[in-house]
Amino acid sequence: MPAAKHTNAALMARDLAVLWHPCTQMKDHETLPLIPIRRGAGVWLEDFDGKRYLDAISSWWVNLFGHANPRINAALRDQLENLEHVLLAGFTHTPAIELAERLTALAPPGLKRCFYADNGSSAVEVALKMSFHTWRNRGAPCKTKFISLSNSYHGETLGALAVGDVALYKEIYQPLLMQAITVPSPDCFAREPGSDWAEHSTRMFEHMRRALAQHADEVCAVIVEPLVQCAGNMRMYDPVYLTLLRAACDEYGVHLIADEIAVGFGRSGTLFACEQAGITPDFMCLSKGLTGGYLPLAAVLTREEIYQAFYDDYEKLNAFLHSHSYTGNPLGCRAALATLDIFAQDDIIVRNRALAAHMHAATAHFAEHPHVAEVRQRGMIVAIEMVKDKKAREPYPWQERRGLRVYQHALEKGVLLRPLGNVVYFMPPYIITPEEIQLMAEAAWAGIRFATEE
Ligand SMILES: *Cc1c(COP(=O)(O)O)cnc(C)c1O
Repeated sequence: MPAAKHTNAALMARDLAVLWHPCTQMKDHETLPLIPIRRGAGVWLEDFDGKRYLDAISSWWVNLFGHANPRINAALRDQLENLEHVLLAGFTHTPAIELAERLTALAPPGLKRCFYADNGSSAVEVALKMSFHTWRNRGAPCKTKFISLSNSYHGETLGALAVGDVALYKEIYQPLLMQAITVPSPDCFAREPGSDWAEHSTRMFEHMRRALAQHADEVCAVIVEPLVQCAGNMRMYDPVYLTLLRAACDEYGVHLIADEIAVGFGRSGTLFACEQAGITPDFMCLSKGLTGGYLPLAAVLTREEIYQAFYDDYEKLNAFLHSHSYTGNPLGCRAALATLDIFAQDDIIVRNRALAAHMHAATAHFAEHPHVAEVRQRGMIVAIEMVKDKKAREPYPWQERRGLRVYQHALEKGVLLRPLGNVVYFMPPYIITPEEIQLMAEAAWAGIRFATEE
């Protein structure tokens, strides 16, 4: 038996006396228990009362190969014995070099330079600043704006928030933010009945083309989340949109930033989502799954021409003088290298196709539920959209917090789901078994039935 001071209840009390949790109305915890986790193993998390939870959302989309993965653990132990950290200005280390070599080899062709940051939002800031600064160094100082999609999410720091469009996170801070140009999303949930994804995404591209035609002279870059707007309720669109966007960015002389922070590393079914459109962005932002869910690390990959726009005599003051204290942390890089080893050794992208098919089969019947408007999937992401009125696709009022009811019900069944508004989704670690997929789907089904009663 665990000592009384290490129970869920005791730890929750201590926590709530001192901590302030992310993305949380802390008052919710007057009624909603906080769950202290004692250990993780594979897809399972275990709390201090001994209850286990299947981590169906990979702990906010970061975990790829399970908790306490033996191979990543071993790499980190080895790295700890040698070097925990050193500054990356004027100094370097083998994990940073090797990871840059491997990422640039795996990325879409042409992305030959790697700049490290230490979380996703910072990677987005790096890409925005680098794009602006490239144009400036090349004598185009009028380019100061960014185009992004409605319903997009690029992080929480002020620059990243400014190019995002999730009102819940953004609206209150509006007076602090630079003005971005927002173009309607190609989100296929909004397509006309009878029209398919490619058709809808192609039609929606006309908004982007118009914005580029109108603003190209003042725009540094277009930033998008390729294929899936994850934080924006897992809304999805067709790869044709990215193909058209790449061509139009070239035509109008604007950079393309691909924020693959959530969809990268196999989530979309390919290693990087851009591959499905056969494009190379000018900047690709990576984080989340980069370290297999172990440590905060981010990378911005870019083209050699962009690097060359900064390469000059010091006195010209054209350098990119941006840094984070933990840039390229060796432990993070080693975790990332161990993660890439697993992708290669276990042929993960191919193996995931079978898992994605299992997820498809386990959720196909959800579409028949009277309060489910759509079940959509892209690779290892499945999303189920709950609605109040199926015919009219009328959403439940957000105040009813139906997703929260799914969360609570699924937790009782031992599955950690964390719906986004009224959208229940699965984004599990890639080591999940078909039986565990079944369990996850059953818990979601029960949760949706519970949440849509009355
Ligand atoms: C999570 C996320 C970010 C922000 O990353 P953090 O590490 O949470 O700062 C940016 N873009 C996308 C698409 C994300 O999903």
